[in-house]
Formats: sequence, C-alpha cells, structure tokens
Amino acid sequence: MITVINDRCDFCGACVAVCPVDSIDLFEARIAILKHCTDCMLCVWICPVETLAPESNVREVECVVSTIA
Ligand code: SF4
Ligand code: SF4
Repeated sequence: MITVINDRCDFCGACVAVCPVDSIDLFEARIAILKHCTDCMLCVWICPVETLAPESNVREVECVVSTIA
C-alpha cells in the first residue's frame, strides 16, 4: 500500500492521472490512497515532490531512525 509521507503535496494531479486503477482521491487540500491500490509504484515515481512512498519503506525508515536514537 502506498501512503502519503509528508505535506509537500501541491495537488498537481500527476499521480491521479497516472494511476491505472483510479486509486487516488484528490479533493481540495487532501490526497488519499484508496484500498484497491496495486502497489504498481507509478504514482511514487511521477510525484515531483516525493510525497508518496510504499508503506514498507516508511516503516524501514522509522525503524532505522529509532535504532540510531
Ligand atoms: S501504486 Fe499504482 S495503483 Fe497504487 S495508487 Fe499508486 S499508481 Fe495507483
Ligand atoms: S503527484 Fe505528488 S504533488 Fe502531485 S498531487 Fe500527487 S502527491 Fe501531490
């Protein structure tokens, strides 16, 4: 599953346009990944401000950070 990892999204709509299964909702100042995401990674690669990431990567980063701290 893809998740939103920061608040840099400028609502350009590029991820919505590229998603092959229409799994991204963009409305006003909020973006949401829906359940039928297939983890194809297209939205992650196309986002110009690195706002999206696979959830597994986020957990890895959190784990490394807590180990160092
Ligand atoms: S990973 Fe693929 S299927 Fe999932 S939200 Fe992004 S573009 Fe859509
Ligand atoms: S491509 Fe990135 S910046 Fe553009 S709407 Fe999607 S998450 Fe936001």
